[in-house]
Amino acid sequence: MDERKKLEKIVSLCKQRGFVFQSSEIYGGINGCYDFGPLGVEVLNNIKNYWWKTMTGQENIVGLDASIIMSPKVWEASGHVKSFSDPMVDCRSCKARFRIDDLDQQNIEQCPKCGKQELTTPKNFNLMFQTHIGPSVDSSSVAYLRPETAQGIYVNFNNVVKSTRQKVPFGIAQIGKAFRNEINTKNFLFRVREFEQMEMQYFIPPGTDEKWFEYWREQRINWYKEIGIADENLQVVETPAEDRAHYAKRAADIEYKFPFGFQEIEGIHNRTDYDLTKHQKFSGKKCEYFDPMTQKRYVPYILETSVGATRLAFAVICDALHEDEVKGEVRTILRFHPKIAPIKVAIFPLTKGEKEKARKIYEELNKQFKCIYDVSGSIGKRYRRQDEIGTPYCVTVDGQSLEDGTVTVRDRDTMGQERIAGKALKQYLAEKLNL
Ligand code: ATP
Repeated sequence: MDERKKLEKIVSLCKQRGFVFQSSEIYGGINGCYDFGPLGVEVLNNIKNYWWKTMTGQENIVGLDASIIMSPKVWEASGHVKSFSDPMVDCRSCKARFRIDDLDQQNIEQCPKCGKQELTTPKNFNLMFQTHIGPSVDSSSVAYLRPETAQGIYVNFNNVVKSTRQKVPFGIAQIGKAFRNEINTKNFLFRVREFEQMEMQYFIPPGTDEKWFEYWREQRINWYKEIGIADENLQVVETPAEDRAHYAKRAADIEYKFPFGFQEIEGIHNRTDYDLTKHQKFSGKKCEYFDPMTQKRYVPYILETSVGATRLAFAVICDALHEDEVKGEVRTILRFHPKIAPIKVAIFPLTKGEKEKARKIYEELNKQFKCIYDVSGSIGKRYRRQDEIGTPYCVTVDGQSLEDGTVTVRDRDTMGQERIAGKALKQYLAEKLNL
């Protein structure tokens, strides 16, 4: 499929089948904000749940859910108030606004929209959303919506160590919303203003950072394979020193091949002791770890893995989309990994006569897997509908089922069908889905 067409197809499929809608659509929409629909939220939750299980399923990684609005001092300490900004220019003629890196680097003075050479000199634009706490709207009440979830973890370092008695090395994982007033939102869910992050901060002794960097890079790339992302669409790119964030000693991006090219989905950063040292300085409270073996106190280094759940949901949908030809007709399929598929099994009665039995099977299976029951249209149409939303298995109940209790199970990817004894169905699906 042509890559530009693929993007258009994804946007339209997402809307039609209830994966993603534009936010506030009936009011004309709002830039850079999207709503996950009934199927999209299942995909997003499946991604988040699997990440959460992977992380907090480990003995030395614990979870956290910090508040979105924090003390503004946090963002002073982290450097966000001063330097979380993109240089931007305005066009005096057509009033459009651009990030410097989005301009044609050969023709840096020309407006990409109207073509006139009327761009202002670059100004730094802070990407944090501001709000006010309490009734007075002045500089003393300014607060920010967090632009990353990481800081909520750092400022809770002492609380977590004391309450859980975790020993370094250990990690704190968090999933939550982050907000960035991006200058240019683009490419559907790729760059948005409100999104979710899944971040894990791993606290380690200084001097072991290189080893842990390699370890987590390996772990994280493997994780994407576990959720079914094709190998050839993933790559890891080491960030050169001049492009690294101010806090990072080393950084690598895991990139996915979107229809518009390879782009970051996760950052792995060696943040050293930068953040905890800054919070110590700004808060006046020690953020140290006491090592019971060496009897020494030190500020741990932090190894961060940071994924955008929203951006990853988009990558997962791009990766799942396939088209093939069946009897001269195009078949659209979302080949989701069973872990990610929003609906695991669809149950159809072939005719009205099998409704009651099919309904019973649906009710039974739905206790274990997310199922759908569909009676409308020809069987062929019902299969296509499920292919389009990525349901791995369809179960059809027909006349023979009423006689001998067997049902037909159809595989989304091979379209192969198998007759299974009704009694064995649950076990059969459990093994196939392997959730
Ligand atoms: P970019 O260079 O794309 O702006 P970044 O390097 O600023 O990203 P990080 O601050 O490392 O990104 O954030 C970690 C992850 O959060 C990114 O890998 C991405 O998946 C996600 N993310 C960051 N900004 C956005 C956004 N505006 N919309 C959607 N996801 C985002």
